[in-house]
Amino acid sequence: MFIDSHCHLDFPDLAKDLDELLLNMQKNQVTHALCVSVDLPHFPRVRALAEAHENIFASVGVHPDYEDEIEPQAAELAELAHHPKVIAIGETGLDYFRLQGDLEWQRERFRQHIRAARKINKPLIIHTRSAAVDTLRIMQEEGADQVGGVMHCFTESWEVAQQAMAMNFYISFSGIVTFKNAAALKEVARNIPLDRMLIETDSPYLAPVPFRGKQNQPAFVRHVAEEIARLRAVELEEIAIATTNNFFDCFKVNRNG
Ligand SMILES: [Zn+2]
Ligand SMILES: [Zn+2]
Repeated sequence: MFIDSHCHLDFPDLAKDLDELLLNMQKNQVTHALCVSVDLPHFPRVRALAEAHENIFASVGVHPDYEDEIEPQAAELAELAHHPKVIAIGETGLDYFRLQGDLEWQRERFRQHIRAARKINKPLIIHTRSAAVDTLRIMQEEGADQVGGVMHCFTESWEVAQQAMAMNFYISFSGIVTFKNAAALKEVARNIPLDRMLIETDSPYLAPVPFRGKQNQPAFVRHVAEEIARLRAVELEEIAIATTNNFFDCFKVNRNG
């Protein structure tokens, strides 16, 4: 069995076919999915999905790429996370690739999320792109190691992975690890300790090979696991069991519901 640790099932492109996507998960032994919040106005639809489906979990947070948002405060985020199906704070982090200029607001927003996570004692879902040094520094300064969490859709170096793991973070691989041109990332996926690894789709984005360029969906997380098994020359079952156990450990979810 497989778990998609990061998807956006609430986005209209996916939500309109929800029944079919849930069925595809079942057919591919994808038992659970974590639907990740990107802004507060749409958080209610993320939470509603988790309330309606036993195998869907939710998070709460405001994505670093979403510029014109009312800045969330730690107390508010912690309050919204006070719900049994809301298992993480995020996605949050830094993105210096999509946005340029004075991004102090992004760093401050990231700090508020870490404080919220510490307040409510739930793990963080961290997005980092072209901003690894500042991301690690702020994690350090705000004590993110006290709650841990996941570096989602990981595309950074082995050194960054090591520093994140030292702060109790898991490393999550997306469909990017299946791309031909991702040699460095494939090397990271070969070396990550089995007990620190998660898998995700980040759907509707980043469909893995052989669906590259098409709309992604949680069922495709299986192809991420297949590629990692191939890279490490181990049975698919081994990756499935490890990443499933890691999901429940990382997000402190009781596996019996
Ligand atoms: Zn992201
Ligand atoms: Zn995402």
